[in-house]
Amino acid sequence: MMPSEILKGLSVTFRSMFRKRNTVQYPEEKRPTSPRFHGRHQLNRYPDGLERCIGCELCAYACPADAIYVQGADNTPEARYSVGERYAAIYQINYNRCIFCGLCIEACPTRALTMTNEYELSSPTRQGLVYDKPDLLAAVPAGAKPPPHTDATDGPPAIARYGPQASVSQESVEPVWALLREQESRQADRELPADEGVAK
Ligand code: SF4
Ligand code: SF4
Repeated sequence: MMPSEILKGLSVTFRSMFRKRNTVQYPEEKRPTSPRFHGRHQLNRYPDGLERCIGCELCAYACPADAIYVQGADNTPEARYSVGERYAAIYQINYNRCIFCGLCIEACPTRALTMTNEYELSSPTRQGLVYDKPDLLAAVPAGAKPPPHTDATDGPPAIARYGPQASVSQESVEPVWALLREQESRQADRELPADEGVAK
C-alpha cells in the first residue's frame, strides 16, 4: 500500500474525530420517532366508546407473519360492543412474530386497527409479547360509556360510524339496518325476471 493511501485513510479518521456525535443516551434520553413510525398496534373506539373492530378477521388474513388471532362473536341489542353485527371477542397480536409491516392496518375496513409510535415492547418472556385485546384497546374517551351498550338505552348504531371506506351516506343518522334493507330492496328492483337476460 502506498504511503499516500495510508495518509488518505487516516485523514478520514482525523476528520471524523471533530464531527458532532449522534450518540443518544437511551433509555435516559428518548427522541421522538418519525410521525409514520410503525410501533405497537391500537384498537380504536368511536367517541361514544363503542369499538371500531367488527371481528371480520381481514387483518389476520392480510398478516404475512401469522401474528394476529381474531375470534368474532355476535352483538345483540342487549350487549353491543361494536357498530357492526359482530365484534372481536378475542383479539391477539403476537409480537414474537410481528414484523411491523403495516399490512394489517391497510386491510382493516373500519380503521379499527392503527399503529402507534410506541416501540418499547420488550419482555422477559415470549408470553409477555402476546398482546390481548385489553392491551391493545384505546382508552374510553372522556364522558363516554364503556361497552357493552344496549340499543334500548343507547340507540341503534348509525352507518356513519363505519370507516372512511363506507361511501354510503357518511353523514347519515339513519339506523344501519334501515339503510341496508333499503339497499337490498333497490337491488331486488333491478334484478331481471328469470327468463330475461338469457342469450337466445
Ligand atoms: S404489522 Fe405486519 S406482521 Fe405485524 S401484525 Fe400487522 S400484518 Fe402482521
Ligand atoms: S381490526 Fe379491522 S380488519 Fe381486524 S378484525 Fe377488526 S375490523 Fe376486521
